[in-house]
Amino acid sequence: LEIKGHDEVARLGEAFNTMSDKLVMLEQKRVDFVSSASHELRTPLSSIKLMSDSIAQNSDIDMKYVREFLNDMNTEVDRLNRIIEKLLYLTKLDNVKAENINLDFEFIDVREVVMDIVKNLSPLAEAKNIEINCSYCESLYIMADNDKLWQGIYNIIDNAIKYTPDGGKVIIGITKQDGNALIAVKDTGIGISEEECEKIFDRFYRVDKARARETGGTGLGLAIALESIEMIGGTISVDSKLDEGSTFTVSIPLFTEN
Ligand code: ADP
Repeated sequence: LEIKGHDEVARLGEAFNTMSDKLVMLEQKRVDFVSSASHELRTPLSSIKLMSDSIAQNSDIDMKYVREFLNDMNTEVDRLNRIIEKLLYLTKLDNVKAENINLDFEFIDVREVVMDIVKNLSPLAEAKNIEINCSYCESLYIMADNDKLWQGIYNIIDNAIKYTPDGGKVIIGITKQDGNALIAVKDTGIGISEEECEKIFDRFYRVDKARARETGGTGLGLAIALESIEMIGGTISVDSKLDEGSTFTVSIPLFTEN
C-alpha cells in the first residue's frame, strides 16, 4: 500500500474509524440480542417453575388444579420450543452471512410457493373464519433459495391471519413491476401505527406484548422474514393503518435470461 499524501492518510484514518464504529455497533447488537433472548427464555421458565413448585409442595392440592397447571405448563413448553426453533433459524441465517455459505439458488415460480404456503396455513385461517383470496396471483419466475423464500413469505401470511380478527380477509397478489416480482399480502386486521412500522422488523419487537403472547408470538417472525428475503436479493415494505389493516409487500428481482 503506497500512501502518497496527507489527504490519503486522512482518508485512510476515516475509513478505519467508520469500520471500528461499525464493529462497535455490531458488538452492541449482539450483546442486546443475547440479553433479550435470555429474558424471553426466562419468562416461560419462571412460570413453569412456579407451577411445578406449587404442585410439588402442596400435598392436598385438588386434581382439578393439577390438571390446569399441567395444561399451562404445556403451553409454556410449546412457547419455549417456538422461541428456540426461531433462534436456531436466525443463527443459521447469521452463519450463512458470516461464512458466505452458498445459498441453494433455483428457478422458482413464486405463485407455486405462495399456493403451497396458503394450503399449509388454511386450517389456521378456517379456524378463524378468515377468507384467503389469491385470485390476483400470476405465475412469475425468480432465482432464489426456496427455503429462504418460503420462510419469508410464510411468516408474513401467518401474521396476516394472526393479527386479523375472526371473519376478516387476507388478499394476496402477485404482480410484475420494474423487473421485480411483487408479492403483496393485505389484511383487514388490527393495523400498525406509523412509528411502530419502523420497529416491527427488529428481533423480539412486539407492538403489544400481551396480545402477542395470546397469539403465540415471539417477536422473531418478521426479523426472520426480512433477513431471509434480503438474503435472496429482495426487500419487504409495509403500509398500514391502525384499526384498518396492513399490506406487506415482498419485492424480488425477476429471473431474466442473460
Ligand atoms: P410475532 O411473533 O409477535 O408475531 P413478528 O416479528 O412476526 O412477531 O411481528 C412483530 C410484531 O409486529 C407483532 O407482534 C405484531 O404486533 C406486529 N405485526 C406483524 N404483522 C402484523 C399484521 N399483519 N398486522 C398487525 N400487526 C402485525
